[in-house]
Amino acid sequence: MLAYTYVGQGDFRLLEKPRPSLLHPRDAVVRVTLSSICTSDLHIKHGSVPRAVPGITVGHELVGVVEEAGEALPETLRPGTRVAVNVETFCGDCFFCRHGWVNNCTDPQGGWALGCRIDGGQAEHIRVPYADQGLTPIPEGVSDRQALFVGDILATGYWAADISDITPEDTVVILGAGPTGLCTLQCVLLKHPRRVILCEKDEGRRSWAAERYPQVLTVGPEELLPFVQIHSDHGGADVVLEVAGSPDTFRLAWQCARPNAVVTVVALYDGPQTLPLPDMYGKNLTFKTGGVDGCKCAEILDLIARGELDTTALITHTYPLKDIAAAYDLFEQRRDGVIKVAITPD
Ligand SMILES: [Zn+2]
Ligand SMILES: [Zn+2]
Repeated sequence: MLAYTYVGQGDFRLLEKPRPSLLHPRDAVVRVTLSSICTSDLHIKHGSVPRAVPGITVGHELVGVVEEAGEALPETLRPGTRVAVNVETFCGDCFFCRHGWVNNCTDPQGGWALGCRIDGGQAEHIRVPYADQGLTPIPEGVSDRQALFVGDILATGYWAADISDITPEDTVVILGAGPTGLCTLQCVLLKHPRRVILCEKDEGRRSWAAERYPQVLTVGPEELLPFVQIHSDHGGADVVLEVAGSPDTFRLAWQCARPNAVVTVVALYDGPQTLPLPDMYGKNLTFKTGGVDGCKCAEILDLIARGELDTTALITHTYPLKDIAAAYDLFEQRRDGVIKVAITPD
């Protein structure tokens, strides 16, 4: 089968590989029906993910059909079942998994394994370990395109909105309107806060969001602080979600927050950030940081089935697997207004 492979630093190639098979009773082999490209894949390409293993197939955002199910898997995952695949591998049994903190699963296979330490989804087939935890059946009526982001960026947005203690009285600021920021936006809207302010430096992305979410206020980072003063009730945002990941947005996140606000840091940074505690003294902020605990995929799929979440508009481009190198190039160079790319088997 064809598999887009991390050969070495700066080098991804579409190679012919053997089709994977079951290695453990909790494994499943899934036929990939749609996959997507994530910025984390590019981090692997550029060598900034040291645990990524050269030779692995990349890709961790995908949906497919169970083709082979290990004997320990439940009836709900029998062959032929359409499934969303979770980016995280987790055992479901350890201390952290039992608390729902699956991002910190202590199993040696736990964490971001697919498309990083073991073969991922930019291929015709994928082996998924702990498939009873990592696969979620897709409800009838939900398309592959609707379910594509459930296991990764939508799980992240859902988790971030969930841990941020949003109330109907709140002014919520979201920093960053990239794919994860836009998923976070949709999940924040499910909590019905009084106001949502989306801060994004790219004007194209700002107007894209403003057009689709007329109830959301959009602003550039330079104007954010005075803008939040005008559009909040208590001198700053009640809740801030930082999904952009730059030193500037990290600083803005605590600066635009009112005293006693919740600041949720979802973004992944290239380096350490500075918390100037003397300047913040008395602001009494609560910081939450992550690492998505991606174990609510069934809930997310139910919301999609009910029409309350819809991220299909994020898919701006579609390529067949044989042209995947061109798709990665488009995504990496951010050409042609790309937000997310879908990859079809043929
Ligand atoms: Zn991802
Ligand atoms: Zn675990």
